[in-house]
Amino acid sequence: MKPDLFEAPDYYNLDELLTEEHKLVRDAAREWVKRDVSPIIEEYAQKAEFPTQIVKGLAEIGAFGPYIPEEYGGAGLDQISYGLIMQEIERGDSGVRSTASVQSSLVMYPIWKYGNEEQRNKYLPKLASGEWIGSFGLTEPDHGSNPGGMVTNFKDMGDHYLLNGAKMWISNAPFCDVAVVWAKNEEGRIHGLIVERGMEGFSTPETHNKWSLRASATGELIFDNVKVPKENLLPNKSGLGAPLGCLDSARFGIAWGAIGAAMDCYDTALRYSKERMQFGKPIGQFQLQQKKLAEMITEITKAQLLAWRLGVMRENGTATSAQISMAKRNNVEMAINIAREARQMLGGMGISGDYSIMRHSMNLESVITYEGTHDIHLLITGLDITGLNAFK
Ligand SMILES: Cc1cc2nc3c(=O)[nH]c(=O)nc-3n(C[C@H](O)[C@H](O)[C@H](O)COP(=O)(O)OP(=O)(O)OC[C@H]3O[C@@H](n4cnc5c(N)ncnc54)[C@H](O)[C@@H]3O)c2cc1C
Repeated sequence: MKPDLFEAPDYYNLDELLTEEHKLVRDAAREWVKRDVSPIIEEYAQKAEFPTQIVKGLAEIGAFGPYIPEEYGGAGLDQISYGLIMQEIERGDSGVRSTASVQSSLVMYPIWKYGNEEQRNKYLPKLASGEWIGSFGLTEPDHGSNPGGMVTNFKDMGDHYLLNGAKMWISNAPFCDVAVVWAKNEEGRIHGLIVERGMEGFSTPETHNKWSLRASATGELIFDNVKVPKENLLPNKSGLGAPLGCLDSARFGIAWGAIGAAMDCYDTALRYSKERMQFGKPIGQFQLQQKKLAEMITEITKAQLLAWRLGVMRENGTATSAQISMAKRNNVEMAINIAREARQMLGGMGISGDYSIMRHSMNLESVITYEGTHDIHLLITGLDITGLNAFK
């Protein structure tokens, strides 16, 4: 892997929209990625392993629960700071950002929002410090885009719940200490349960053979008559809206994170275009290559504006789920297109692990699929503007 020479593009001076705190938080995350992620990430992606040694650093830059109040160990930051941290981490690698997103938005968020005070005090500080890693079990083998059809279920046994079923494609599963699991009760109502490693009948086999998010561990969550203590049920929200509320927060983070991956691809291609000589000229002097670069910076700038405005609305509490869907969909597609164009600009070198572009490109294939597929987000916008449901 080449040295990390990243310089962030800011074509519309968007830094002027940020507070001093935003810039401090972002710059700390940027420095950490340069120092602790860039030098090792290609090797870990190649060997398909999560680099556990970066967990402490993720906690230190506030990536675990950026907006969770400090009394629970979180960083107590605002939504734009959260977005900027995700942007910087995904600039390094989408898999590392996935670990942080799951921990913050899919594990800490539901415990904070839907849990009681005992649950908050028991789990949040350990998750914020990285002592515990969490996973989020919603997707099942036969229920992905349609999670409401889930079959994982629990029965009230008097002094405990009995949980049965299986989840698949679960980030962090192979080494998670706790899992927030969505399951139906005997009336068919969806609830969140906190399942802990070591509970009898709970296993987390790893999913192998991935060509995407290779530096992130993915696995299954299997529940075979798991006795879950009654105090592990999240009491304050139930129904499909509960997991969807977590997804809003995670999708918001992805809308920012994808910008990071795109910025890294653009910056690499721009630098390469000035150094690589063909036909006696730097390739950046050819109009075809300039077209690619000009379109990339235009799309990145539009995505940055979308994310910033969404951050303001999210902070005010006015952002709708459909608005979040639009930003996730637009920004991930923007990033995947830029990764493809940037890869071509590097010619044969574009497929090499000496550069980050091919890794970003492969990673973004997962990012465009998880947390609601590209199609599903389009249907959400379609439903929002027409009032007509095209899902079924
Ligand atoms: C690396 C990775 C990590 C993940 N991490 C997690 C995690 O931590 N926790 C978790 O719960 N899940 C996780 N997921 C699962 C992810 O959210 C699902 O893969 C995703 O929701 C899609 O579900 P599916 O794969 O079953 O595809 P399907 O739902 O089977 O979709 C297949 C295709 O059909 C399309 N489609 C489906 N329904 C419709 C419709 N109504 N109209 C038009 N087209 C439709 C989809 O857009 C897609 O193109 C992860 C996935 C990956 C790849």
